[in-house]
Amino acid sequence: MRKWILATGNVGKVRELETALAGLDLEILPQSALAVPEVAETGLTFVENALIKARNAARHGGLPALADDSGLVVDALDGAPGIYSARYAGPGADDRANIDKLLAALAGVSAARRTARFVCALALLRHPADPMPLLCQASWEGVVLAEPRGAGGFGYDPVFFVPDQKRTAAELAPAEKNRLSHRGQALALLRQQLRVDGALAGL
Ligand code: IMP
Repeated sequence: MRKWILATGNVGKVRELETALAGLDLEILPQSALAVPEVAETGLTFVENALIKARNAARHGGLPALADDSGLVVDALDGAPGIYSARYAGPGADDRANIDKLLAALAGVSAARRTARFVCALALLRHPADPMPLLCQASWEGVVLAEPRGAGGFGYDPVFFVPDQKRTAAELAPAEKNRLSHRGQALALLRQQLRVDGALAGL
């Protein structure tokens, strides 16, 4: 069976990925299982950070590696919190602190100008020097509410209102969120790319 490293220690992400790529005869190992050290995310874009993490995992783990990088891009804040979404309110900030900082930054901004999107980039490298990584990026459009709504999801979900669904991401059933979300769509693109003849060579 083919083996890939997933450049995360998050068990939930490993399961999500295994489900999304079922049928590819694939075993997905979290990088923690191979003692891959963390790497600094020094890129300025989601794609760069996904590549940095995948390259680090492929180098230290000796297997093809997949990494994702995601975050919330808010138009009225020139794209912030963007690649800094996890640590917007400071290193180790929790979801509540990040949401509070976001709502404070948007205080006084009208509903019409609160447009935003979740973005997810995926990078898959056959080996650390792979000159042609598989790259997928997808986004999910929404509006930042003035107050949190809903108890599901994580991160910025309670303030991310999805106009098509008339609900926040935290009010969607998990399967529904996975189908619509930036991550779900990026994984669908990856599945498509892997179906292309030869895409699995070396993987
Ligand atoms: P990471 O790519 O898993 O490090 O996620 C970066 C950060 O972006 C997370 O810590 C969340 O704050 C935010 N984020 C990414 N995806 C989502 C989502 O689906 N819902 C809510 N917040 C998200």
